[in-house]
Amino acid sequence: MSEDVPKPTFAVDQMLGSLAKWLRMLGYDTIYDKTMDDKQIAAAARADNRFVLTRDKELSKEPGAMLIETEDLEAQLTVVREKFGLKFSEDTIRCTQCNGELVSLPKEEANGSVPEGAFASNDKFWKCGGCGKVYWRGSHWLGIMERFRKLNLA
Ligand SMILES: [Zn+2]
Repeated sequence: MSEDVPKPTFAVDQMLGSLAKWLRMLGYDTIYDKTMDDKQIAAAARADNRFVLTRDKELSKEPGAMLIETEDLEAQLTVVREKFGLKFSEDTIRCTQCNGELVSLPKEEANGSVPEGAFASNDKFWKCGGCGKVYWRGSHWLGIMERFRKLNLA
């Protein structure tokens, strides 16, 4: 895997919460905050050279912005993939809640912060450096990976 080309980073509007979550799971730094209005999103994107993804025609006039014309999540992921060459990267998965970076968490430290069943059946855990949420790859993760593959993202 080449690390020479910097990964694109994104700022998405209030209408694209699901897309934001999936971009974070794919490993892309993505700003999404329901309390931000279009002006704030545009400012945040300009501040650190993010691409704006938006359902809003006005906001899509921002430099580098992309108008997302469909409401369907899979279709959204497909158009963004076609434009930016999205590819799942296990090393850069972000917290779906806050966009924080995940750091691996030794199993013994996960004890008590995850359900017993998840603790017993997993050896790898991650913790969000932002909000502290602990992650593991349960059966839901297999479904996510399956969807990544189906959409040609992994
Ligand atoms: Zn977090």
